[in-house]
Amino acid sequence: MKMSDRLQAIIDRQREFDAAHGWAHYDRELSDEQLVEELYRGTVHLLGELGEFANDVKKSHRESGLRKDELREELTDTFIYLIKLSLLLDMDLETEHKKKIEKNYARFEHHKKSL
Ligand SMILES: [Mg+2]
Repeated sequence: MKMSDRLQAIIDRQREFDAAHGWAHYDRELSDEQLVEELYRGTVHLLGELGEFANDVKKSHRESGLRKDELREELTDTFIYLIKLSLLLDMDLETEHKKKIEKNYARFEHHKKSL
């Protein structure tokens, strides 16, 4: 099955940006050790961005009220690193998501509400 056009467009845009900056490490032939190193780096970046998101949630909760623009930007940063990690793992995100949703339907069958 072909990945949806919109998701593919997002991934293509990210690939183009990374290639223009020499950051498309997922397009290089990597040893397992190099791949683990890139996964390590990507995961640190992902969690850094998630931390920035969490900080804006905290500020929204404690101080300044809803910081929707900042939250959207930081969540997008985490999405970017999720895409980059999925490219390192040569994943088809749409297929993997579909598989996981099917698995979760089975796993949480007892929570399903009858309509
Ligand atoms: Mg950020």
